[in-house]
Amino acid sequence: MKKKLLLHVCCAPDATVPYLRLRDEYQVIAFFYNPNIHPREEYERRLREAEKLAKLWDFPLIVGEYDMERWFSAVRGLEEEPEGGRRCEVCYALRLEESARLARELGCDAFATTLTISPHKSAEKINALGREAGKRRDVAYLESNFKKRDGFKESVRLSRELGLYRQRYCGCRYSMR
Ligand code: SF4
Repeated sequence: MKKKLLLHVCCAPDATVPYLRLRDEYQVIAFFYNPNIHPREEYERRLREAEKLAKLWDFPLIVGEYDMERWFSAVRGLEEEPEGGRRCEVCYALRLEESARLARELGCDAFATTLTISPHKSAEKINALGREAGKRRDVAYLESNFKKRDGFKESVRLSRELGLYRQRYCGCRYSMR
């Protein structure tokens, strides 16, 4: 029997390659938890695309709470940080913590995140935060760097082929600048 893995999904295009790379080894359960996305219409659009992919490729998708209050309060004081700076670390950490919590609750063998496919994000930082969240919640974190082996390029190709919407900014209000 395959091991059960909770895959935190930041958006549908970014979920394509990670899912394809993991599905042979794991029973993948996707988890859309992104209270960073602003405004609400954009959040809903990204969520719809994730649901579309889940239906198309037939994998389960759990939708987390859109608790933007929690997100805004976590990044308070870091509004002016550049992309890739401290605000982003807090943003990754929040989403990884919630993923670890749910993975543990569902009895998953491990959890991972699609965030490492982005060429703008440090897989090293994300993996360090994932390991810490896993330790705190007592569930294994699967390290990744999905952008390797042309992962990002392949996700762009697949998204086009499947007609998935790809956003033009990372997600939060401050990344729209
Ligand atoms: S730029 Fe992206 S990763 Fe950084 S805080 Fe905003 S949404 Fe989160």
